[in-house]
Amino acid sequence: MAKARSQAPARKKPANPLLARWSAPFGLPPFKRIEPRHFKSAFAVALKEHKAEIARIAGEKARPTFANTIGALEKSGRLLEKVASVFYNLSGAHTNEALQAIERDMAPKMAAHETAIMLNGKIFKRVEDLYARRDALDLTNEQRRVLELRYKWLIRAGAKLNAKEKARVAEINQRLASLATQFSQNVLKDEQSWRMVLEESDLDGLPDALRESAARAAADMGLAGKYVITLSRSSIEPFLQFSARRDLREEAFNAWIKRGEMGEETDNRAISAEIIALRAEFAALLGFKSYAAYSLEETMAKTPGSVRDLLSAVWEPAVKRAADEREALQARARAEGGNFAIAPWDWRYYAEKERKALYDVDEASTRPYLTLDNVIAAAFETASRLFGLKFKELPDAPRYHEDVRVWKVTDKRGKHVGLFLGDYFARPSKRSGAWMSAYRSQSKVAGEISPIIVNVMNFSKGEEGAPSLLSLDDARTLFHEFGHGLHGLLSDVTYPSISGTSVTRDFVELPSQLYEHWLMVPETLERFAVHHETGKPMPAKLVSRIKKARNFNQGFATIEYLASAFVDMELHAREEEGAIDVGAFERDTLSRLGMPSEIVMRHRIPHFLHIMGGYAAGYYSYLWSEVMDADAFAAFEEAGDAFHAATAKKLHKHIYSVGNARDPLEAYVAFRGRPPEIKGLLKKRGLAG
Ligand SMILES: [Zn+2]
Repeated sequence: MAKARSQAPARKKPANPLLARWSAPFGLPPFKRIEPRHFKSAFAVALKEHKAEIARIAGEKARPTFANTIGALEKSGRLLEKVASVFYNLSGAHTNEALQAIERDMAPKMAAHETAIMLNGKIFKRVEDLYARRDALDLTNEQRRVLELRYKWLIRAGAKLNAKEKARVAEINQRLASLATQFSQNVLKDEQSWRMVLEESDLDGLPDALRESAARAAADMGLAGKYVITLSRSSIEPFLQFSARRDLREEAFNAWIKRGEMGEETDNRAISAEIIALRAEFAALLGFKSYAAYSLEETMAKTPGSVRDLLSAVWEPAVKRAADEREALQARARAEGGNFAIAPWDWRYYAEKERKALYDVDEASTRPYLTLDNVIAAAFETASRLFGLKFKELPDAPRYHEDVRVWKVTDKRGKHVGLFLGDYFARPSKRSGAWMSAYRSQSKVAGEISPIIVNVMNFSKGEEGAPSLLSLDDARTLFHEFGHGLHGLLSDVTYPSISGTSVTRDFVELPSQLYEHWLMVPETLERFAVHHETGKPMPAKLVSRIKKARNFNQGFATIEYLASAFVDMELHAREEEGAIDVGAFERDTLSRLGMPSEIVMRHRIPHFLHIMGGYAAGYYSYLWSEVMDADAFAAFEEAGDAFHAATAKKLHKHIYSVGNARDPLEAYVAFRGRPPEIKGLLKKRGLAG
């Protein structure tokens, strides 16, 4: 490998840093030395190594034991994991054309590699044999869970199919991987290519923060003196909230909702139709009525029916609420002389005015109290009070972009827990949205491996030398992703396949959504929501107005989300075969639902990255998890203390550290003493009774 090559005296080429041993602290990749060209050969070497490991396990002569089969599988693929996690993290957070080309090239290869392992008959035989003898094997609870999960994963991947069917599954998986990559790259291209260039005279209504970031965006594009609005959520959303120019709002809104269907080359409609059809075919091969039925089998929800029940229980009260909201916005528009019916590009604008009038809170009044540094400190302090964690910034640690920050995390005894990377600002090389990911996941199967967790956001950067000021939504997003981050950092399991966030999708949003609650507790606000210039805490009146305004516009927000969740579920619950016209499907589904015409679904199919990537038939998960997060936070409220020590201890033990070592419902019940109840969710959204 790399070592042998660098020892060969005739070659002066530096070793591939991806294949070398990393000497940076706690396993951080040597980002500075990694170039796109290194990935190709590193992937080739890592894939070959993993194949050899799998062949050894499959060809093992000794009778299957947990160690020589499951344990060996858990230990295999370390190098591939190392290369792939650097690659896919950079592809999301800091990509370029070279990386994108490799991504397209690697997608079908990685899919083929994974499929070959999952469909390896000899491996399946060994796992099946162990599974049949599981009661007699003297396994720990965690080992038994890993064995049972792996057995199920293999069957669900097609291990019991005949050779012809397996060949088709392999084809489907490769094609799906290529299509999903293309889909996501197309969305990014549309986001990068569209911009609205404005003059000083076009800025009516825009707050200073947005004017400044629009001026900076223009300067970055060589358009000094002008103002640029982009399709990044941190640019377009405030623009729609504040711009008094209805014509410009309409233009921007229409571009935003047309991502993925703007033009021939980046059009995602045919791609998404093919993805849906291939998934349906795959589910049918495995004997399921629909892809949703297949996908939900291994979740807490279990069936499309129980998902529909939950979505419907919230839909009706949300539609009623949204109708009231629309009336109020319409009245406001008329009172200002607007002689038109509220359109989708008007909703955010008049809602912002309504919010200001009713509660006297607007973005501009809260932003000065929410500096990025303080919100980070608040998220850390919360983790310290709940779980005893300490964070120390490492200013000299390697990073892949100068904006990335690195912290060392220790527990209350000073023991190393892991590294936490924060990558907070929007830039063209980053895909939109916010997410948590890992450069390395926690495990103990081959020595203690500490996690390296990253949070990626798309906040707008403050002026040179000035602090970056967040909206309340931004601050919530930071807490949300940090909650996922803690799920990765606090993971305390032996086997990597069940580490941290490797849990069922409708459970994975619990640690993140639950964490959002601590942003708004008085202890957090008093200490961290302080004005960036005066140092004064957010006035009590403003805090109370924010809390009162909390359920404002929740009809709109709930409908926007639920519409996407329904469309995702119906797309994947189709039992008919053959391709569909995604545009018509979306329209028909929404019209059957009775979608209010002034609201557009949060993610339309051609740019619905969640469901075209890994969240297929899973967008409902946020709401499913929200039932639990509302119910879980109530445990602290009932204890009368947002940082109640005994409750925090249970939360740590049963939820944040357990990974997938336990059935999720069992884990929840161990924490709460009973299954979750929906009433907390309806109350939280202001939709109860
Ligand atoms: Zn999340």
